[in-house]
Amino acid sequence: MSEPYQTLFTRIINRELPADFIYEDEYCVVINDIAPQANVHLLVIPRKPVKRLVDAKRSDTKLLGHLLWVAGEMARRSGVGDAFRVVINNGADAGQTVFHLHLHLLASEKFNESDIAAP
Ligand code: AMP
Repeated sequence: MSEPYQTLFTRIINRELPADFIYEDEYCVVINDIAPQANVHLLVIPRKPVKRLVDAKRSDTKLLGHLLWVAGEMARRSGVGDAFRVVINNGADAGQTVFHLHLHLLASEKFNESDIAAP
């Protein structure tokens, strides 16, 4: 039988690797990005290791909605609810380096397009 799909983020979720956990629930975890591109740079990561957004199934729509809600909630709790961005890189050519779907939540005091357009 094949092993379940394992990623760097799976290992973080399973506490095999260290990370700053900001939030977690039954569907996802939120950690600080290890190389922040903005004052606030969080990653919202589903426990389910969907590789890319394009690989999400129709049955994942509830999960996808939840991830967006969590991103907004984390922005609110971080005090940046009035100015933040949510970015998903889909595919290596779009800058995806970890093939486990994740949302970047980015916020700076003042947005600089060149700083945070492509995390
Ligand atoms: P992406 O390039 O969209 O796949 O985003 C992957 C993100 O994961 C990058 O912003 C990395 O800085 C971040 N990252 C990689 N390794 C870790 C880690 N061990 N802990 C937290 N964030 C990480």
